[in-house]
Amino acid sequence: IKKIAVLTSGGDAPGMNAAIRSVVRACAYHKIECVGVYRGYEGLMEGDFKQMNARSVKGIINKGGTILKSARSLEFKTKEGRQLAFENLQKEGIDGLVVIGGDGTFTGAMIFNQEFNFPVMGIPGTIDNDIFGTSHTLGFDTALNTVVDAIDKIRDTASSHNRLFFVEVMGRDVGHIALNVGIAGGAEEILIPEEDLGLDRLVESLNRSKKSGKSSSIVVVAEGDKIGKNIFELKDYVDENMEGYDVRVSVLGHMQRGGAPSCFDRVLASRMGVKAVESLIEGQTNYMVGLLNNKIELTPLDNAIKGKSKINLELLRVSDIMST
Ligand code: ATP
Repeated sequence: IKKIAVLTSGGDAPGMNAAIRSVVRACAYHKIECVGVYRGYEGLMEGDFKQMNARSVKGIINKGGTILKSARSLEFKTKEGRQLAFENLQKEGIDGLVVIGGDGTFTGAMIFNQEFNFPVMGIPGTIDNDIFGTSHTLGFDTALNTVVDAIDKIRDTASSHNRLFFVEVMGRDVGHIALNVGIAGGAEEILIPEEDLGLDRLVESLNRSKKSGKSSSIVVVAEGDKIGKNIFELKDYVDENMEGYDVRVSVLGHMQRGGAPSCFDRVLASRMGVKAVESLIEGQTNYMVGLLNNKIELTPLDNAIKGKSKINLELLRVSDIMST
C-alpha cells in the first residue's frame, strides 16, 4: 500500500473528524501518502481529492460534522458510477480506501471491492449505533450526552408545571439511544421498536406513577417506535385517556447529530483510524473495524451489513426496575 484515500458518507456523526485525523496521521506515521475525498462517493466519481498530511488535520479532533463533507450518491449505485470512481483512484495512484459511514456506505464499499478487487476498510460512523460488529459506533456516545442534557432541561420545566413530556429521540429502527438516555435521564417509560409496550399498558403505567406521587413524567420515544402512529397521535391518545396531566411533545431532531465529540468518541475514532490503516498495510480488505469487549477488532463488511445490532437486555431490565 502506497497511498490511501479516506471519505465520509451517509449521515454525519460527531467523531468523524477525529477518525479522518487518525487515518491521515496513521498514514503519515507509516510513511504512506493520504488523500481526502470530498462528499463521499460523489467526490470519488468527480475526482474531488485533496492531498493530506499530518498538519492538514490540525484543530479538528474537537469539531462535530465532517471537514470532508458527506453526501448520498445515487450514481455510485450504478456500475458506470463505480467505474468512474475506480478510474479516478487509479489515476491518482491510490491503492487503498477507508470509508467512514453506515451500512449503506459499507454496502457500496463491498460492491466496489468485489468489482475491482480494490482494498477497502470501513469505520462505523453513525449516532444510531445500529451496526453489527461493534458495541459503539462513532457519534453514539456524543449523541447520548447531548440528549441527556436536553432531557435534564425538559425535566426542569416538566416538574414546574406537572407536565408529561413525550421526548422523541433519533435512532432509526433501533432503540439504543432511547434506552440509554431513558435510563440516564430518569424517564418513567421508554418506548423502543424492539419492545412493544402497548398503549393501554403505557397509560396504566403513567397512572400508577402519578398515583405514587410523581409531579412530572418523561417518556422517551425512539423515532422507530410504532406504538402510536407518530408521537403527536401518541400525545392525543394519552390526552384522551389520562387526567391531570398537561401533555407535551418535544422532538429533539438534528441537534442530536451535532456538537463536539465526547472524549470517548475521540479516543474510539483515534483507535479505529489507526487499525483501519494498519489493516490495509497488512493486506487485509473488506472489513469493518469495531469495538468488541474494549478491543478493536475486524468484522467482515458483509457481516457488519447483514448482522443485527441487538438491544442490551440487561439495560431493558434495569430500566424496568428503575421505573417502579
Ligand atoms: P447512515 O446510517 O447515517 O444513513 P449510510 O452509510 O447507511 O449512513 P446511506 O445513504 O444508506 O447512508 O449510504 C451512503 C451511500 O452509500 C449512498 O448514498 C450510496 O452512494 C452508497 N450506497 C448505498 N447502498 C449502495 C449499494 N447497494 N450499491 C452501491 N452504493 C451504495
